[in-house]
Amino acid sequence: MRKQFVAGNWKMNLDQERSLALAAELRKQVGSVEDVTLAVCPPFVYLKGVAEALAGSSIVVGAQNMYGDPGGAFTGEVSGPMLLDVGCRYVILGHSERRHVLGEGDRLINTKVLAALEFGLKPIVCVGEKLEQRDAGRTEQVVCGQVESVLHGVGRRQMASVTLAYEPVWAIGTGRTATPEQAEEVHVLIRCLVADLFDADVAEDLIIQYGGSVKPENAGELLARENVDGALVGGASLAAQTFVPIVEAARSTGKD
Ligand code: PEP
Repeated sequence: MRKQFVAGNWKMNLDQERSLALAAELRKQVGSVEDVTLAVCPPFVYLKGVAEALAGSSIVVGAQNMYGDPGGAFTGEVSGPMLLDVGCRYVILGHSERRHVLGEGDRLINTKVLAALEFGLKPIVCVGEKLEQRDAGRTEQVVCGQVESVLHGVGRRQMASVTLAYEPVWAIGTGRTATPEQAEEVHVLIRCLVADLFDADVAEDLIIQYGGSVKPENAGELLARENVDGALVGGASLAAQTFVPIVEAARSTGKD
């Protein structure tokens, strides 16, 4: 049975005081939840403080990006060993904002996935089609192409540390959510592809999150779908009053 995994992507939001206050509130409300994996992903500069605020709770910390090299002359970048050093366990890679605003492509994302695994970080790797690609009937081709590319060279055993997040670009930060049927359909395609690339056991164990305007109002029906194993949450992760109900929805699916 796959355990639901809910991760909050704080993006470039909140300041230090509000980051620490949110971490403290989440710790109080869901800091001992064990039946769902929980992570929050603050901006780099607040990672250490948030990790310290959550130390000893069941909520772990992830970064929103990482550079593939372990160190060196890469001005402005942050390496995997640095993330581990400040208490990170997860790292989001290939988020659509990094793909489409900052120009990251599958090959670069793939090098980061391989590096993260090498360093001992667990990547949450995002894939998803744009609206025009969906409208052109290219969702399967685009999403499966991304999955195949970003997982190139990943070993069968390493897959136990990988989470995939299906995030249709047209649903991120737009208030427009994929229907549970649309999400389930793509999650099944991804799981079948992973079975072809690796094997049925790897595919069966793989956590596939859905992301794109997940809110307390729609989390229950999305997370209840058989192949939706959690959520990558942006806007609704910025306040305990919207994030905690999503965690509770994941708990109540009974899919632990
Ligand atoms: C995201 O940033 O990964 C995301 C899904 O954002 P939102 O929930 O705000 O759509």
